Amino acid sequence: MIEASLKDLAAALRAGTLSSVELATLFLDRIDALNPSLNAFITVDRDGALSAARAADARLAAGTAGPLTGIPLAHKDVFCTEGVRTTCASRMLENFVSPYDAHVVSQLKAAGAVMLGKTNMDEYAMGSSNENSHFGPAKNPWDASRVPGGSSGGSAVAVAARLAPMATGTDTGGSVRQPAALTGVTGIKPTYGVVSRYGMIAYASSLDQGGAFGRSAEDCALLLSAMAGFDPRDSTSVERDTEDYTRELGKPLAGLRIGLPKEFFAEGMDDDVRAATEAALEQYRQLGATTVEVSLPNAKLAIPAYYVIAPAEASSNLSRFDGVRYGHRAPEYVDLADMYSKSRAQGFGAEVKRRILVGTYVLSHGYYDAYYLQAQKLRRLIAEDFIAAFTHCDVIAGPTSPTVAWPIGEKSDDPVQMYLQDIYTIAVNLAGLPGLSLPCGTGAGDLPVGLQLIGNYFDEARLLNVAHGFQQATDWHRRMPAVG
Ligand code: GLN
Repeated sequence: MIEASLKDLAAALRAGTLSSVELATLFLDRIDALNPSLNAFITVDRDGALSAARAADARLAAGTAGPLTGIPLAHKDVFCTEGVRTTCASRMLENFVSPYDAHVVSQLKAAGAVMLGKTNMDEYAMGSSNENSHFGPAKNPWDASRVPGGSSGGSAVAVAARLAPMATGTDTGGSVRQPAALTGVTGIKPTYGVVSRYGMIAYASSLDQGGAFGRSAEDCALLLSAMAGFDPRDSTSVERDTEDYTRELGKPLAGLRIGLPKEFFAEGMDDDVRAATEAALEQYRQLGATTVEVSLPNAKLAIPAYYVIAPAEASSNLSRFDGVRYGHRAPEYVDLADMYSKSRAQGFGAEVKRRILVGTYVLSHGYYDAYYLQAQKLRRLIAEDFIAAFTHCDVIAGPTSPTVAWPIGEKSDDPVQMYLQDIYTIAVNLAGLPGLSLPCGTGAGDLPVGLQLIGNYFDEARLLNVAHGFQQATDWHRRMPAVG
């Protein structure tokens, strides 16, 4: 059952060969056995999961179940959950219990999905390795001495190690796609505005976007269909009709034009990643797709632009954590200013502080024009490159990460090395486009390699089918790490 697709799980639940309570128990027991070594979950809610499973069983019996009713799920701990603590992997929110559910959480509750718990992440979603968590790093199930990627590392590990059949994440600069690549699962970040940010703790609001992890593109399509949709409580939520993201699955790929940005293939990726990427492209050609070279001349400016814009927005968003209304408050202080400063000094980790400092600096008088405004101009140029490229192709393909998963500790003292891991993912967020990573092979140490597919605005359904077509012809997404 831990290997079954969401569709098969739903069929078994409907047929009554399996109850939702049995299914939830199976995964909760796996979490009990494996989470101490993998550290994928910050909070496990056994009682809540079992009561949601009982309610799902009642719906199944009454014939009012939807495609996800009764299926277990893990939420990244960035999504507020009423009654279950939401930490954002920060000491600041270690004991925070939200009085309301994030839009994504309430959508999935309404769909009848059963939340098992909240997954580990980099603090406030700042990181590429999950090492910036107040609760310690999540471990890559393919090799527990290596990082799973970040920031949604716990969700990726949960799906890769079969601790949950599906999980939510968020992607500001690659945090769904990169951990999906490093753990061998499928992950999609939709077009900016498709998934409501209401109740999703803000990092960089103009870039943050909720996304889905599954073991296949088909599973991601089912989960995304339940997560997405217009929400008036998020002013950047796009007012569009709700979509069935499975609708294109099964369409033949013959005639598909895949754009290969020459800048992505020039240099920068490791040889093992290159070999797996090239082999995946060859597979697509065999499926009838053609490849064309495209150019994203400004893509190399994505990292510097992002590491100005994201910290600028973060410095503003995180000003709300002041020790006054909620979150950590220093136990001792002399006056109000001292309380703010001690509470924030104690509550935030080193990377969060680094970003607040950078963000405050680039927004300050005299530097705003030199840094922030320039970065916004680059952002526009980067988006225009993609728009031009999509006049020559239907989707863009390339690596998700320049390397396979690296050893825990290897880059944690060098922020710039860490930031460079986002080289292929960040431009997509700056442009607001949808992006997906699917397992496409293995590299050194038999570690997973991910292929990134980038789509035009609102082209998620096609993107998912392009990944699905590959998964119909290959088995990379079926490999399972030897845990448990
Ligand atoms: N690694 C990037 C960062 O540290 C992206 C993180 C994310 O997408 N949340 O900001």
